[in-house]
Amino acid sequence: MQRRLFCALLFTLCAACSHGNAPVQTGKPVVLTTMSTLRSLIQMVTGDRLDVVNLVPVGSSPEDYQPTPQDVARLRSAGLLIQNGAGLETWVTHLVDGAKNSKLQVLICTDGLPVRNGNPHVWMDPILARSYVQKIEAAVERFDPSGRAFYRRNLRRAKAQLAALDRHVRAQIRTIPPANRTMIVFHNAWQYYNDRYGIRTVGAIELSPGQEPSPRYIAQLIALAKQYRVRAIFAEPEYSPKLARMLAENSGIQTVTDLYDDSLGSDSRVGDYISLISYDTGVIVRALK
Ligand SMILES: [Zn+2]
Repeated sequence: MQRRLFCALLFTLCAACSHGNAPVQTGKPVVLTTMSTLRSLIQMVTGDRLDVVNLVPVGSSPEDYQPTPQDVARLRSAGLLIQNGAGLETWVTHLVDGAKNSKLQVLICTDGLPVRNGNPHVWMDPILARSYVQKIEAAVERFDPSGRAFYRRNLRRAKAQLAALDRHVRAQIRTIPPANRTMIVFHNAWQYYNDRYGIRTVGAIELSPGQEPSPRYIAQLIALAKQYRVRAIFAEPEYSPKLARMLAENSGIQTVTDLYDDSLGSDSRVGDYISLISYDTGVIVRALK
């Protein structure tokens, strides 16, 4: 009896292990991507015609991700890899070399786009995100030519949705008094969004991934926050809000802890690219108005 119970337990555990994070075999061609925000843009074009698998889990940062042996296996069985590039996923090159998949096609979305100051967060501007979906459509059409009409139809719809998103954000930001349009952010994922909508990024707490700022740098940020009368410091769920809180306490400014950029969130308010940008815009407007 006991032995039977043990075997049943073992079977359950093994079933759980083998399921784990393993991709579900759908029989569809596999497109791999690095981060969940990019997966959302890809799915606007592919719908459910292709199996779009994301490497960096929701809620983790693609900038300091450590690939797993399972990621190498995923890369071996993928036909197309779509990454952001511009230095965001420095670990991808090593992963591609390790997988030795000679049939793998690769699209780097930021190639040919106006990358500023080496900042890879180009997708945060909905107008530039339209260039992403355009490039994604061309890549998936090459990868799966028989889906051409389907992908082109989805591309037209995606471009219209992104144009509507841009109009929505523009109208929302216009409700913030111009003097209040300043932000201190956790990491500089906001350059392209802020450039597009006329918000000044006064500073970023973390200048490079995983590197804590020095007390001297924090003191400089506090001085800047006071000089520009910054109304809020924006942290992100992927990072500990400790530093942002410390900075806020020392400068008498509120902290906002739920801004999403590199990763989607786990609930539907931030479950895809359009929702994420709309949600963030609401958070920014409420904090700065
Ligand atoms: Zn980032």
